[in-house]
Amino acid sequence: MIDPEPKFCHQCGSPLTQEIPQGEDRLRGVCKACGMIHYVNPRVVVGTVIESGNRILLCRRAIEPAHGKWTPPAGFLEVGESTLAGATRETWEEARAEVEILQPLVSIDLTRIGQIHIKYLAKMKSDDFEAGPESLEVRWFDYSEIPWDDLAFPVTHWSLRLRIQDRDQGSPHFHRGTLQWNQQGSPLDFSNYDLSDLQSWPLDIEEGNES
Ligand SMILES: [Zn+2]
Repeated sequence: MIDPEPKFCHQCGSPLTQEIPQGEDRLRGVCKACGMIHYVNPRVVVGTVIESGNRILLCRRAIEPAHGKWTPPAGFLEVGESTLAGATRETWEEARAEVEILQPLVSIDLTRIGQIHIKYLAKMKSDDFEAGPESLEVRWFDYSEIPWDDLAFPVTHWSLRLRIQDRDQGSPHFHRGTLQWNQQGSPLDFSNYDLSDLQSWPLDIEEGNES
């Protein structure tokens, strides 16, 4: 499920050959016709964990993958956009919610599929929200009622688990880690992953539990 390798040259359209270019250490798509080397690099997914008191705003996905499952709003960062602007835009597109970013929450590397997921903690600027075109439904969940068995992705599960840990301790952190599949079972089941290289840095901010 890695991001698609290009099969044809972006420059001249000839088929690519997979080989290790001189001076490099891994396979690349190389064009024998024009010599262009095609690099495939990770993509960045940005999103928000929106809280109000003890509640979190989740979207039920109207698109694959994970159609019908719940997740905080998130999507691919666009060229020309900061991660903060991208997270805010995705939140508008999926939940029609205007938010203020409060702190960085997680940066989780999914090395297996070449993605970096950055989530910011946020709060609503107004009470208004509704399902955008990529959501079936958007609603508040109390943190005690999170639909754990119907969350969209392992990265969703781990992000919320880390946030709950911070809330329970009354101590906000920025967390980073590599989400690694243990090579067994479904790659969509969170329990087949670990985040063993997790690092958490405390943030010197007030934990605002506004009601
Ligand atoms: Zn070419």
